[in-house]
Amino acid sequence: MAQKNKKEYEFQSEVKQLLNILVYSLYKNKEVFVRELISNAVDALNKVQFELMTDSETEDPGQDLRIDISFNQNQNQLIIEDTGIGMTRKELRENIGTIAHSGTIGFLKKLSKSKDKERLDLIGKFGVGFYSTFMAAEEVHIYTKSHQKGSLAYLWKSTGDSNYTIEQTVKKKRGTRIEVFLKDDQKEFLEKQRIKTILSKYSKFVPFPVYIENEKFQAAEAIWSQPKTSLKKEDYVEFYKFFTNLQEEPEMHLHLSSDAPVQFNAVLFVPKSSMEKTGFFRSPPGVDLYSKKVLIQKSSHDVMPEYLRFVKGVIDSEEIPLNISRETVQNDIKINRIKKHIIKKLISEIVKIKNKNWDPYLRIWDHFNRNFKEGVVSDFENRERLSQLLLFHSSKSREDYTDLDSYLERMPEQQKEIFYTSGPDTEAIEKNPALEAFHKKDLEVLYLYDPLDEFVFEHLGEYKGIKFKLAESAKIEVEEDKEKKKSKAYLEDIKRFVQYLKELYGDKVADVQISKRLVDSPCMLVHPSDGPSIQMERIMKMTNKDYEFSKKAFEINPDHDLIKQMVRIHKKNPKSKSLKQLAIQMLDNMRLREGLVEDVDSIVSQIQEIMLQAAKQARTSVGKKTSEKK
Ligand code: ADP
Repeated sequence: MAQKNKKEYEFQSEVKQLLNILVYSLYKNKEVFVRELISNAVDALNKVQFELMTDSETEDPGQDLRIDISFNQNQNQLIIEDTGIGMTRKELRENIGTIAHSGTIGFLKKLSKSKDKERLDLIGKFGVGFYSTFMAAEEVHIYTKSHQKGSLAYLWKSTGDSNYTIEQTVKKKRGTRIEVFLKDDQKEFLEKQRIKTILSKYSKFVPFPVYIENEKFQAAEAIWSQPKTSLKKEDYVEFYKFFTNLQEEPEMHLHLSSDAPVQFNAVLFVPKSSMEKTGFFRSPPGVDLYSKKVLIQKSSHDVMPEYLRFVKGVIDSEEIPLNISRETVQNDIKINRIKKHIIKKLISEIVKIKNKNWDPYLRIWDHFNRNFKEGVVSDFENRERLSQLLLFHSSKSREDYTDLDSYLERMPEQQKEIFYTSGPDTEAIEKNPALEAFHKKDLEVLYLYDPLDEFVFEHLGEYKGIKFKLAESAKIEVEEDKEKKKSKAYLEDIKRFVQYLKELYGDKVADVQISKRLVDSPCMLVHPSDGPSIQMERIMKMTNKDYEFSKKAFEINPDHDLIKQMVRIHKKNPKSKSLKQLAIQMLDNMRLREGLVEDVDSIVSQIQEIMLQAAKQARTSVGKKTSEKK
């Protein structure tokens, strides 16, 4: 009978890889495998509890929901048994033999590429589920019987190398019994006290009774249904660690309770770090939905908006019927009311942290700024609240971040717009001639480094009634210096030069103008007043080859020596070949600067032609000087 239907299978290659890493890992914190097994047992019990409530046909319906931990000293065995949902033969193969979760596969890739020390951090941070057992075990047996009526029981066996076997077995109770055959140097897990300590550390909040050798383990009550006043910060931290299987503390927590108009309790956390930031994968949602302490939806997609997927925690409401379907959760008026309230409160709480505790907020920003930006774009209702969370660098805040409210506070009364520009870094941004007038007039310009920021501004349009304005397209003038006052004659000459440029440039530019904003640079391109910034245009060009850059106006600085020289040449000889070369090069320089040039080769030969002229001139003057010396 024991050998009945025995079959040998090979682990999926990812599992083999993971097992290999774990078995030989020097990870000191091997005790986490107990936490992982308990956490799996809790999941299994949650699932069967839900099945029982929604009265589908279940094996062993009268069975207590519980976890039993025992030891077999002679065989070096730690045994963890639950009366949860169990597994069929197929489920055993799918759940234990393979890794389906894309996150785990991503994690694994990272793990196999990382150095030893990082590896250990990663194992601790991520948790590697059932397989972590093999850090302490030389062999594992799983006896399991599914909750589905009439199910057979199976025994899964593996020593953690490349294979496992499954055979039919006898098991009376529904659920799963895991026998961990400990390695010789891991016998500490055969001590009752050791296991109790591990449970207190990681599993204090188990929502089902746990017995260690028939002695009941004192678990803590569900934290969210306790009054806030009876809880300390440490209680939340402990619950968070239990809930997430993480060893780090949360960045913040929020406990909300309400009786009317709708009843609910919620405990939510903002984590200290983001898995997305490390580049693993897109985080699954982190909030579980309960009804009277029964888990209804784990990692619910319906109680938090996508952009808040990093938030972890629990929402429990009596108003939610146990057998609610996904569609109903989405459309339920009461759930939506709870959801709305919670989101608003949560964002307000983060805003409060920003206003009171700058350093913790900077950490939150560092990890979740992309989420907030996503929120500004997608959550119309909380748009303004979320905009308060946005941080930027600016011409007046190069080193430190600033927020929009501080920008508004610094803004002089006559200023009517929030100015911004974009670029890859401060250095690049500050070389932009468009900013000269702003610096001269002491007007603050926000520096956007993240291309997403511009989408955000476009979406917002304004903040607290003040419009966003791209610096390159803003109308701005600097007052003319008295000593730079231009003669009437020069003004006439430069107007004719502008006309000359217009004809020369044709439809390469929208217009040619005498600049009132340039200070140090000879010329610049001005963007159409409501057009996208050049950063944005480049992105559009990358995604769509046929995208045509918007036409820009060309401005020249009448006080710049280069322009003065060119005006002079133009006055003397409007047909000068060198002038034409210089004028074309002047526009191309700006187009190069903005990354608008597609035909670099012709520009290079043009520059070489200008160099040749310059070299000839230099030679004549050198020739003159040497002949003078002689
Ligand atoms: P995770 O728990 O993160 O999904 P594990 O490797 O720990 O990853 O477990 C893989 C799967 O095996 C679980 O998702 C679950 O379907 C199944 N499983 C593990 N332990 C049990 C158990 N005690 N009862 C029922 N199913 C289990």
